[in-house]
Amino acid sequence: MARDINPKCKKCRRAGEKLFLKGDRCQTAKCAMVRKAYIPGAHGKTIKKRALSEYGLQLQAKQKMKRMYGILEKQFKKHFEEVKEKKGITGDLFLARLEMRLDNVVYRMGLADSRALARQLVGHGMITVNGKKVSIPSYETKLGQFVAVKINKAENKYFKNLEQIVKNKKDFPSWLRVDLSKFSGEVTAFPRREEIGINVDTQMIVEYYSR
Ligand code: SF4
Repeated sequence: MARDINPKCKKCRRAGEKLFLKGDRCQTAKCAMVRKAYIPGAHGKTIKKRALSEYGLQLQAKQKMKRMYGILEKQFKKHFEEVKEKKGITGDLFLARLEMRLDNVVYRMGLADSRALARQLVGHGMITVNGKKVSIPSYETKLGQFVAVKINKAENKYFKNLEQIVKNKKDFPSWLRVDLSKFSGEVTAFPRREEIGINVDTQMIVEYYSR
């Protein structure tokens, strides 16, 4: 399974904003966007931001979204191809497809503090969908499906510590009904654009792939 191994903090510094790729660390003073909020590289401090062309803006939006979800180009484009012929606003459908990825659902449920960690949990066979193990992070969850930690894996040290961490977690998206005492959640609705809380103009991405 190919994965992006480039340094995460550099991606934020390149984007010029926090993309929250490292879980708890992103909320602390150790965050690279607090310590070194300039473009990475020897001349990063002195490089001035230039006005971007239309293409540059589209590329920037695409790169930002791809990095936020931790997906490589091939897979990212594949998700776009999956939704582009569907009825509705392509940008919203695309965003919803990314949200419905199994690794993202695990992240939204609070079982991992970053999408990268959620992806690892799925890849290591710790997650089930409707009682069956699914180890494909890009798997598209559907309405009415239950996502849970595999019963024998719930004994794992990671989940024992997690119980304390997620105890007070309340900010679950409305499209997920989560029962953390059972380490499980049900997909109850289709994620809506306004509650996903991602500051990216998806229309730019649609235009990028429609060139
Ligand atoms: Fe980005 Fe998090 Fe690194 Fe800060 S700590 S630069 S938000 S990945």
